[in-house]
Amino acid sequence: MEQSTSDSEVSDRKRVVIIGGGVAGALLAKTIQFDADVTLVDPKEYFEIPWTNLRAMVEPLIAERSVINHSEYLTNGRVIISRAINITETEVLTEEGSPITYDYLVIATGHDDPVPKTKMERLEEHNSENKKIQAANSILIIGGGPTGVELAGEIATDFPDKKVTLVHSGSRLLQFIGPRASTKTLKWLTSKNVEVILEESVTFNTESDGKQVYQLSNGKTIDADCHFLCIGRSTSSSWLKKTILNGSLNTIGKLMVDEYLRVKGRKNIFAIGDITGILEIKQGYLAQRHALLAARNLKMLMTEGDESKMATYKPGSSIAIVSLGRRDAVAQLPFITAIGRMPGLIKSRDLFVGKTRKQLGLEPNPQIAQTTWYKGFCK
Ligand SMILES: Cc1cc2nc3c(=O)[nH]c(=O)nc-3n(C[C@H](O)[C@H](O)[C@H](O)COP(=O)(O)OP(=O)(O)OC[C@H]3O[C@@H](n4cnc5c(N)ncnc54)[C@H](O)[C@@H]3O)c2cc1C
Repeated sequence: MEQSTSDSEVSDRKRVVIIGGGVAGALLAKTIQFDADVTLVDPKEYFEIPWTNLRAMVEPLIAERSVINHSEYLTNGRVIISRAINITETEVLTEEGSPITYDYLVIATGHDDPVPKTKMERLEEHNSENKKIQAANSILIIGGGPTGVELAGEIATDFPDKKVTLVHSGSRLLQFIGPRASTKTLKWLTSKNVEVILEESVTFNTESDGKQVYQLSNGKTIDADCHFLCIGRSTSSSWLKKTILNGSLNTIGKLMVDEYLRVKGRKNIFAIGDITGILEIKQGYLAQRHALLAARNLKMLMTEGDESKMATYKPGSSIAIVSLGRRDAVAQLPFITAIGRMPGLIKSRDLFVGKTRKQLGLEPNPQIAQTTWYKGFCK
């Protein structure tokens, strides 16, 4: 499906195709839309601020601001709602539709989550997850990475009477950051009556009456009315193995880039965001930094064509903030790990939604129309 968001169909501007409309791809598309003939390829019609997903499960209204149709910020470009499946030296092929010719290509396919195509369907999905939480007395969360921890924090804060159990197969929570953050987070969750079980995995069995039984690897069972699977999101790079970029993937399936964020050995193909093999923590604020640097370098190449004037990228430091409900958070900063209200002030209240919308040229706090999808929502 193609959505044209510009009036002028004929252009002498360079054709830039961006694959992936996530944190990095959306910002890049918005930034260069008046400097190039931009086509954004994404399997869904919207960009969603990924770290608001868990809040949306307890407060679906936030999704009205955090699920943003691509056409809202890309007012002078084309959106192809499809998945890219191949790349040649000159074209991108998608699951649906004809080949898209490019002068410059940008790969920004960080993760490929199984989410619906339309904004309305996505809002309905958040609403039904919210109803599932509301209807349950006991909830099992499987996975102790940022997704599982943030979901446990949201439920424990908004629904303190529900019994929440978090099972994680690793020896500590939040293994992507340091052990001090893990210890502090475990203490915080326990203080909110979340039962945390480490070094166990869960198998699902269904009893004859249809009841779901959750069994731990130690043989014990967990009683829960429902569960949420919060296991790691893998990088969306397997599709690249059948393309001209196969040789540019490293051993963990990330694209190797040079200091200008071009795929190694390629003059006109860039990669940005979590798909890159840059040795740094995978975070959205760094994906945004990649997008802005790639925008600068693309503009330089398209106008002056002088490679020596391109800006170089320096890997970011390991800063990460994991929210714990609406007021608290745990933060790993360069020299300190902090938990509580202070880091919470930075992230947990608005989850950077206003800031991200502003970056995309949108009103940070738009009036939310009373649409039908959240009629059943009450808290
Ligand atoms: C729970 C949680 C909390 C987080 N909190 C923070 C935070 O507070 N701050 C922060 O900076 N970061 C945070 N992050 C990390 C952040 O979300 C990621 O680093 C960021 O989303 C990476 O951006 P990206 O554009 O590279 O990839 P993504 O945002 O994953 O976007 C990839 C896009 O590519 C599309 N795509 C995939 N495959 C294809 C294909 N074949 N063809 C076309 N399109 C495709 C996808 O549909 C998607 O739209 C958090 C992550 C999690 C899980």
